[in-house]
Amino acid sequence: MTMDFTDRVTRVEPSATLAISALATELENDGVDVVDLSVGEPDFPTPENIVEAGKDAMDAGHTGYTTSAGILALREAIAEKLAADGLEHTTDEIIVTPGAKQALYEVVQALVDEGDEVVLLDPAWVSYEAMVKMAGGALTRVDLSTYDFALEPALDDLEKVVTDETTLLVVNSPSNPTGAVYSDAALEGVRDLAVEHDVTVVSDEIYKEITYGVSPTSLGTLEGMADRTVTVNGFSKAYSMTGWRLGYFAGPEELIDQAGKLHSHSVSSAVNFVQHAGIEALENTDEAVEEMTAAFEDRRDLVVDLLADHGVDVAVPEGAFYMMVPVADDDQAWCEGALEDAHVATVPGSAFGTPGYARISYAASEQRLRDGVERLAEEGYL
Ligand code: PMP
Ligand code: GLU
Repeated sequence: MTMDFTDRVTRVEPSATLAISALATELENDGVDVVDLSVGEPDFPTPENIVEAGKDAMDAGHTGYTTSAGILALREAIAEKLAADGLEHTTDEIIVTPGAKQALYEVVQALVDEGDEVVLLDPAWVSYEAMVKMAGGALTRVDLSTYDFALEPALDDLEKVVTDETTLLVVNSPSNPTGAVYSDAALEGVRDLAVEHDVTVVSDEIYKEITYGVSPTSLGTLEGMADRTVTVNGFSKAYSMTGWRLGYFAGPEELIDQAGKLHSHSVSSAVNFVQHAGIEALENTDEAVEEMTAAFEDRRDLVVDLLADHGVDVAVPEGAFYMMVPVADDDQAWCEGALEDAHVATVPGSAFGTPGYARISYAASEQRLRDGVERLAEEGYL
């Protein structure tokens, strides 16, 4: 039998970040020593207090379904975290999801219809494009690479593409894959356009806790943005909880009601005991987050210096744990070669809409980062 697949699924490719990481794991299983700088995943274990809270929750019998939007105590803790960032949300304006990815998926499904226009700032994380395509939306992309990945100098370009026809604009600061943290002036520019053209904005703040000497503003705190911003966040990165699958989104209640239907008919709820661990993460883990962030900062400095030693200059990231390295016009071939010859896994910039670069995730030990750069240089990739 030949199955006839939907347009919505056949028009997207598998996640490039996860695909390359799977390839690296395959090589490792074949006995090859791969320096995997592909997937964006902290190399630290989940902080012990969070693990304990998860175990305790299981022991206490928190193993059944929860309220679809998430347990009230977690939504209260999230509301408190958001309030600390200047975002006022009641617990009815929050949905807890199995990962921020699911949050974004639900938001896009709830807001983007066939043919609706969505604006991305390139380079943009791989799954935004796929999610919009699955919803049938049309993408317009603004290239920040000519401005060293800063948003402020690109506001004129953005102004040209944001119109009354625009449905959604996605802003991700600190950015995956560039590590850029957008200035307040840039965010105010976004706000002005969103208000003028009545556009909803998704603010993906999953890297907000991981910054180096800067403090990113939450877009929803700007005047005029409260009722048009959907703030997305998650536990994977700041708390090193990628495999726990926990995230959330907060937005106007009418969006929560609509997206909540999708949520209840798809995942039902996030995992019960994981939600309990999430409370512990938000309430008692600041120190561990600071320690991990300090380590990422040292690693960023190390990689920037190592690359400079080989004559490669990068836009220095101010947050997250990624950097875009200028490589070759055919970045796909460069990344394939780097994996095959140097056994270093990276993600081609074209997967993020910006050919000519490779994304490095420096959430790896200093030794592995040194090994990675050395191997790339030895094999002639730098
Ligand atoms: N947004 C961005 C920008 C990301 O890099 C990721 C990485 N996975 C996610 C959302 C989703 O994260 P998760 O589903 O693990 O919470
Ligand atoms: N967001 C991470 C990355 O960009 C994890 C993989 C994914 O979900 O895309 O590598």
